[in-house]
Amino acid sequence: MLEKLGQSITKALNKIKNATFVDKKLIKEVIKDIQRALIQADVNVRLVLKMSKEIERRAIYEEVPKGLSKKEHIIKIVYEELIKLLGKEGQKLNIDPKKRNVILLVGIQGSGKTTSAAKLARYIQKMGLKPGLIGADTYRPAAYQQLKQLAEKIHVPVYGDESGKMTPVEIVKEGLNRLKKMDVVIVDTAGRHKEEKELLEEMKKIKEVVNPDEIILVIDGTLGQQAKNQAKAFKEAVGDIGSIIVTKLDGSAKGGGALSAVAEIKAPIKFIGTGEGIDDLEPFDPKKFVSRLLG
Ligand code: GDP
Repeated sequence: MLEKLGQSITKALNKIKNATFVDKKLIKEVIKDIQRALIQADVNVRLVLKMSKEIERRAIYEEVPKGLSKKEHIIKIVYEELIKLLGKEGQKLNIDPKKRNVILLVGIQGSGKTTSAAKLARYIQKMGLKPGLIGADTYRPAAYQQLKQLAEKIHVPVYGDESGKMTPVEIVKEGLNRLKKMDVVIVDTAGRHKEEKELLEEMKKIKEVVNPDEIILVIDGTLGQQAKNQAKAFKEAVGDIGSIIVTKLDGSAKGGGALSAVAEIKAPIKFIGTGEGIDDLEPFDPKKFVSRLLG
């Protein structure tokens, strides 16, 4: 994951590390290299330009702090601006232990939503809390079965409709009634409809019924710029998206598209999916991510 992007940025930074003299010209050249690397990794162009302007401004005008060389200072700036691009400190789920919390998962079909719902339940279980699941995707026929199988594996109660007669809103209402004793209820939703508009309308309705404590957008980490557009569409439909799960970062995905989604909706990534297994969910740590990115 992200190796190429990391390598390109490291290579650019090495130009500074290995230079005998760091001047404006070199700084500008290195920033150009970093821009190219980010754009190739599908990070939104506007975002890249904004970030590189900030690196340039700081590298040229900011006073070098005591104890650092000019070179170290520039490298630190690049590192900090990359972290800024990814959102603030690694952020935790907002769970209030004194009540039942409801998490609503939204995202396009195939993003890994159902898998992530089960992984999240597993994660919450490992925190020592009681999770429950609701399968409200009535559009994809096998979605509820898939969720049920995963839930059974980890012994988590799950509610859904096998008859095919209930609407998603009815399922969610009934599910919330039955799962009253859980600490956290995770609602899996549809990711596809005949028309995108219908899907977004459905999400809006479910959101009104659920009144979730947190809405999590699930994004496929292998996507490019579509990630940004998806994030925007869901945000317009359901309002505040509290956080993002980026899936499939175990493959060769560069993940730049996800960065653009983060910037678009100004919500932090809280977890990354690193495989198909139920335990393959990691809390997102921007510092670790950038460190790994830059080797
Ligand atoms: P949904 O349509 O959004 O509910 O997507 P699913 O949960 O059914 O996932 C779609 C496919 O992506 C399935 O084959 C999952 O096993 C796979 N998948 C989900 N998350 C990950 C991940 O983090 N890594 C990998 N490699 N595959 C994943």
